[in-house]
Order: sequence, then structure tokens, then C-alpha cells
Amino acid sequence: MSNVLFLNIPYNGHVNPTLGLVDGLVKEGEQVTYFCSEEYRERIEKVGATFKSYGKDMTILKNGSNVFMDGNIEDKFINHIEKRLKLNMKILPIIMGEIKGTKFDYIVHSAMFPLGYIISRILKIPSISSFEEFATAKELITGIISGKRIKDYVSTDNYIKLRERLDKFYNVKMPTNILDLLSIKSDLNIAYTSKYFVSHPEYYDDSFIFIGPPIYDRKEVIDFPFEKLKDKKVVYISLGTVFNNTNDKLYDIFFKTFGNLDVVVVMTAYNIDISKFHIPENFIVKNYVPQLEILKYTDVAITHAGMNSIGDLLYNNVPFVAIPIGSDQPYNAARTSALGATISLDTYKLTPEILGNAIKKVQEDPSYLENMKKISKSFKEAGGYKQAVEDIFNFKKQKWISL
Ligand code: UDP
Repeated sequence: MSNVLFLNIPYNGHVNPTLGLVDGLVKEGEQVTYFCSEEYRERIEKVGATFKSYGKDMTILKNGSNVFMDGNIEDKFINHIEKRLKLNMKILPIIMGEIKGTKFDYIVHSAMFPLGYIISRILKIPSISSFEEFATAKELITGIISGKRIKDYVSTDNYIKLRERLDKFYNVKMPTNILDLLSIKSDLNIAYTSKYFVSHPEYYDDSFIFIGPPIYDRKEVIDFPFEKLKDKKVVYISLGTVFNNTNDKLYDIFFKTFGNLDVVVVMTAYNIDISKFHIPENFIVKNYVPQLEILKYTDVAITHAGMNSIGDLLYNNVPFVAIPIGSDQPYNAARTSALGATISLDTYKLTPEILGNAIKKVQEDPSYLENMKKISKSFKEAGGYKQAVEDIFNFKKQKWISL
């Protein structure tokens, strides 16, 4: 049995994929202490971890969600990094205080959480990075954030001050490439995809394990009128839980595309005030639905191509159209489209006609389903959480961590 420190950022797309992993580790006898924000307490406790809260400050992180939207991406990105780092520095003493006196054997952290990097160096114990995005920093650099100012951020006064502070108080050497803090490579790295799916397998060295998408029965108790889906043609729409509130026009396009059709549309509108919309009668709009359950009834879907959702759809062979909005979504959508398994549409040029035609095509042209099946097969062969737990135990042996 080992003592595991788990550090994550408070997003559905980052917490959800780790739940199956925690469940697997706990079942093998590991004691997991999981830090996150309060809203995730129930899910985390349910898989057998001891939950610890960062306190209310962490919710500020959410404000950075539209960082990749149009406008000057570099400015927004730097602003986002600054905000994040400031917040991380505020939370660092809270975590250090909470874990004082407890000896941990290894850390698992989100690849996008700078404190994962910092605390693993403070504690000097082996660490495992959980890549809850398909893309590594290299892929994101070529795809989204290649600017010189981002590269030069490490030379700004603010970053230099932060480096000095961490060096002085904790003897931690901060990276000189800021992307190493936002896509953190650790001793062992978990990629929730397959080698077949990634566009540049050469970016992933032997420290990476490919376990396939995070498919796991979260045993969520969420009320949903499933009887309304029986014997109906079902369209499922989700723009996820982070970028879903950045463009209301998309929702109007959905209403216009499907409002008069003989289909039932299940649409999530996470944290969105839906009273401002005129919603057609054939739509069931909910804040949060049990996605994997809904997919069992779904004929065709529209996704923002977040890592978890695109994984859910591909794994389950549900035809879909992608409307990527930000972060790694353009990469995920482009890659799936390059493998011939979806149509990826330009979010800013979308019309009901374009969407309607794409929806028709992915259902009628059999090549989409054939190509999706190839990806799905590679995902299933990757071995899932069982494989991840096995690999973690082998890693423990290599690092002389007691089993
Ligand atoms: N999700 C869900 N029901 C909803 C909306 C989202 O179960 O109504 C889950 C989904 O299964 C996934 C996560 O929330 O685990 C969203 O993650 P993703 O990476 O797809 O997108 P993000 O929200 O991070 O943009």
C-alpha cells in the first residue's frame, strides 16, 4: 500500500478522466488524498479517495476559460498564465499546510497544473502526469500558441520574481520554457488516447503510456427522462463545460437546424442561463446529463471535440460532427477528421445549412463509421485503467516504492 497525493484543477474535463484511475488504485489498496475544489468532492469521495479542498480561491481559474477565443491570442494567453501562476502561488501554502506531517510515496497530477510540477519537486518524490488533453505542448505550439512573446514570457519580471521566490523558499528550479509548466512531463505520463490516434507519436517517448480514452462508469445519479428517447431518432449536442458559453449564436443555429425535424435533441447547457433562448419543443435541454448513458440512445452527435467527449463518441462509434472552440479542441477535431472519422466545421462560419449537410453526410457516407471503428479498436486495445494501474505498479517497482 502506498500513500498517493493527487493534485488536479477544477474542471469536469480534468477531474472526470482521473476517477477511473483513482478507483483502480484504491481497489489495489492505495490510499489516495485528492486535492480539488469543493464542487468535485462527491465524485472524488465516491471512488474512495480522501478529498481535500483548495478553498474558494480556485474558482477564479474558471475565468480564464475563453483564452483561445478570437482576439489577440498571445495577449490572452499571457494574461491567463499570469493569473494561473498567481493563483497557484496562493494555493501552494494551503496544500503544504494540509499535507504537513504526512509522508507520500508518489504524486499524480494534471499535466496542466503548475503546482503538480512545483510540489513534486518540493517533496522530491516520483511523479506521474495525467495528460487530460490529447495534445502535448509540442502539438499545441504548432497548432495554437507559437508566438515569440509566449516563448519570452520566462524573461519577464513577474516570472523571474516567481522563480526566485520558489528557489529561495522551496529550492525549486522553475522551467525556462513556460509550456513545460502547462504540459508537464513527469517520470511517468498517462495519455488517454492511443498511439494510432496521435498525429506525432514521435513526440511521446517511453515515459508515456497510452491507455485509451477515460471510459468509466461514474455511477452518476442524474435525473433524465430516458423514456422520451425510446424509439426516437436522437441527436445529442454538447459543447462541454468550459467553452460552451462563449458563443450564443451556436445555440440559435442548433435550434434552427433541428427545431422542425422529427428528432429528439438532447442538449447540455452547463452553467448557461437558458431563459434567454426560445427553445423548440423537440429539445431536451439540461445543465448536465449522464453523457455515456445518453450516447447509448444517440444516432448522431455534435461535439466541441473536448478530449473526453470526442473519446466517448469515438470509443462508442457514434457518428458526429465537430465544432471545435478552443484549447486542444481544434487539434482533436482536425486529427479525427484527418483519420476520416468526422467532419470538423469552422465555428465562426457555421450556418444551419452547413451543419445540417454535415450531419447528413456523417450518417450516410459509410466511410466515417468505418474509420471511426479503426480508432475505436485502437482505443479498446490500449487497455484502459486496468493497464494504467498495472503500469503504475511496475513504475513503483522501478522507483523502489513499497508495493
Ligand atoms: N459531461 C457530462 N454531461 C454533460 C456535460 C459534460 O457527463 O452534460 C462530461 C463529459 O462526459 C466529460 C466532461 O464532462 O467527461 C467534459 O469534458 P470534455 O473534455 O469533453 O470537455 P470540457 O468540458 O473540458 O470542455
